[in-house]
Amino acid sequence: MSSKPLPILPGATLGILGGGQLGRMFTIAARTMGYKVMVLDPDADSPAGQMADVHLQADYGDHAALKRLGEACAAVTTEFENVPAASLIELAAHCRVSPSAAAVAIVQDRSHEKSWLREHGFATAPFELINSEADLEPALANVGAPALLKVARFGYDGKGQARIDTPDEARAAFRGFGGQPCVLEGFVRLEREISVVLARSDTGECALFPIAENRHDNGILDVSIVPARVTDTLAQQARAMARAVADQLGYVGVMAVEFFVVGGRLMVNEIAPRPHNSGHYTLDACVTDQFEQQVRALAGLPLGDPRLLSPVAMVNILGDRWQEGGPHWGTLLAHPNIKLHLYGKQAARPGRKMGHFNVLDTDAAAALALAERMRDAL
Ligand code: AMP
Repeated sequence: MSSKPLPILPGATLGILGGGQLGRMFTIAARTMGYKVMVLDPDADSPAGQMADVHLQADYGDHAALKRLGEACAAVTTEFENVPAASLIELAAHCRVSPSAAAVAIVQDRSHEKSWLREHGFATAPFELINSEADLEPALANVGAPALLKVARFGYDGKGQARIDTPDEARAAFRGFGGQPCVLEGFVRLEREISVVLARSDTGECALFPIAENRHDNGILDVSIVPARVTDTLAQQARAMARAVADQLGYVGVMAVEFFVVGGRLMVNEIAPRPHNSGHYTLDACVTDQFEQQVRALAGLPLGDPRLLSPVAMVNILGDRWQEGGPHWGTLLAHPNIKLHLYGKQAARPGRKMGHFNVLDTDAAAALALAERMRDAL
């Protein structure tokens, strides 16, 4: 690898695989700091492509495009876990790549991710790996009903998941997913869901953002509340576990660890090798936001201060809003303590993340109350 000396400073070109909203916010942060940005995404009109200096319109496995990206950029990162690990390896022949292909390969497949968590002593919901129909009945007996059958790869926002009560339902769901490898998970009684977004540098320095408390609707994040309403002990445990996950993965970059709180104890749900939806509150409420932090970790700069400046509630704006006559932006923007972020997506499909807003207030309860009022008024 023809690696450039670290830190990589403004004026250099940074690259990102994926042109969605996470790539867009990375691009804005990088350009604000004076870097040039090259985005690789197959879509002609992607949220990040709109903001980038250069948009390479090609597939993630396109060798010529990867070579061009790797040669033009001092460093390349990713905005999503489903990028082929082979593409990251290919890029690493030309430039600095973070996170590593090895880390992404573990977390992009639920079977590998859950097995890795278990082997490394992190508590999870009970689970069994499913590779064939014959695995289903004994797995359901082990994890207990009700359970969730989840496809191992390419599932997100509750997609590729089915609730299972009986072996017959499990077989029907498995066939419905085309017989692809799955994970069968015991359905746990959630008291709360929380997440920790953190950055880790090459030297092992870690900066953890404050814990977010997350509420989902139909498997999709609806609201994040910060600070999370958890005890100090639980917060400390979550931070320690998130950090241990990053350390043991040898992770470099920004990542998120999602937790379930069950019976007062933590279970790791998922690891995301990138900034996370539950970290969007950092854009307006922290000294450094998660995308600047991604730039810093990628460029080998010292990490920024993740300190919270104000209690905040973040609300996702889904495409469903457009079905009902379009969002009332005026209502939202009439509030001086609400910050709107839209992703530049043209087609507003139900369930599609179109943007989000952050409500900053004197305490989390006040921020949440206004956030819910605005979500319903939108
Ligand atoms: P996932 O895509 O696996 O993060 O699942 C999306 C959402 O479904 C989670 O944030 C939870 O709200 C819910 N969920 C997922 N797995 C379980 C489980 N094993 N028990 C209870 N709820 C779950």
